[in-house]
Formats: sequence, structure tokens, C-alpha cells
Amino acid sequence: MGFQALNGQFSLMKNINEIEELIKLISKLPGLGPKSAKRIVLKLMNSRDELMKPMANTLNEVYKNVSRCKACGTLKSNSVGCNNCENKDKKFNKICVVENISDQWSIENSSIYQGYFHILGGTLSSSNQRKEDLLITSLVDRVKKDSIEEVIIATSATVEGQTTAHYIKNSLKETKAKVSKLAQGLPVGGEIESLDDGTLFSAFKNRS
Ligand SMILES: [Zn+2]
Repeated sequence: MGFQALNGQFSLMKNINEIEELIKLISKLPGLGPKSAKRIVLKLMNSRDELMKPMANTLNEVYKNVSRCKACGTLKSNSVGCNNCENKDKKFNKICVVENISDQWSIENSSIYQGYFHILGGTLSSSNQRKEDLLITSLVDRVKKDSIEEVIIATSATVEGQTTAHYIKNSLKETKAKVSKLAQGLPVGGEIESLDDGTLFSAFKNRS
């Protein structure tokens, strides 16, 4: 008899502090509420060696070894270094500025663009987002250091995204780079991550 026997009687798990804490934490993940968190915890309890143990170890490893690069904002392994901005084999003359890593993944998957990425980590107006956390100063540094010729701003078509784009454009005035923006073809309110390849392609092609 596995833990499944407890399914439906979640109250039984209530006085186990560790389980309660785990459910609380998992509920904070995107797309998950308390109900799905409980199902996940049950699944983990039923697969202690195959799932729970490797997951706990992997989480710990990722926590220790992977972090956001302070220069470009992408994820990097501390042992390997950043293969976005420290990649010496490939030289590009373009940087594409996006809000989140998921935006970078969408653009990479579509193979529309060849160049560096710069991940802001949010927008200017998002709540509890401080200007200095957005890596705009480091963007200006990168543009100068890598002799970048074009900066493509691919923030989303929301008010926050456009305010951020405007601010970035002003910050880049001291550099020689041409600044373009994905505008046409982007639906208003459209987030890069949720665009299909065709829309993304025309947004890149028609950048201004
Ligand atoms: Zn980097």
C-alpha cells in the first residue's frame, strides 16, 4: 500500500510540518495551486528514490552552480562561464534585448535571429522592479565593449514594455549603435514568449 491510499484525505498530511511546508512552496510555482501541489507531493512520496531524491539533489546543484550572469542576465553555469556574453568563438555585431529568459528561448527556437542576447529581467514598471536591477548599465557597457552595431529591442507590446524600450533607447544614445525595435506585426499587449514563429519573423524583419 502506497501513499495513494491517503489520496483524497489530505487532512491526514496536515500535521506533518515538512509536507505542509513543501505544499506551500510548490503552490508558489507558476501554474500550480494548492491542489496540484498536493498531487505533486503525493507523487514524490510514492517515488522517493526515482524522483524525490534526484530532484532534491538536482535542485541543490542548480542552486549552487547556476545563476544569472551579471553582465547579460542569462543563466550560466558557474563552472563553465557565460556562453552568451563570454563566448569567444562566435562574434556578433547585434544584441537583442528581451525581458525574460523565456523570450530568449522563443527567439532562439525560431532561428530568426543570430546574435547576442541581453535579458533585462523584467520591465521598468513591473512591481518591485528596481531600475538598477534591469541590467541597463551593463547593456550600455556591452555595446561599447563588443563594438555592437545594432541593438534590437524586443520588449513586449505592453505599456511597461514600451516604456522600458524608450528608456533603453535613451540610455544607448551615448553609443554608436543603431537602435531598432520590434514594432510592426506585434499585437498590442503581445508578449514575445507567446508569439508564433510567423509573427516573430515579421516583427524581426520589419523592425524599425
Ligand atoms: Zn553573460
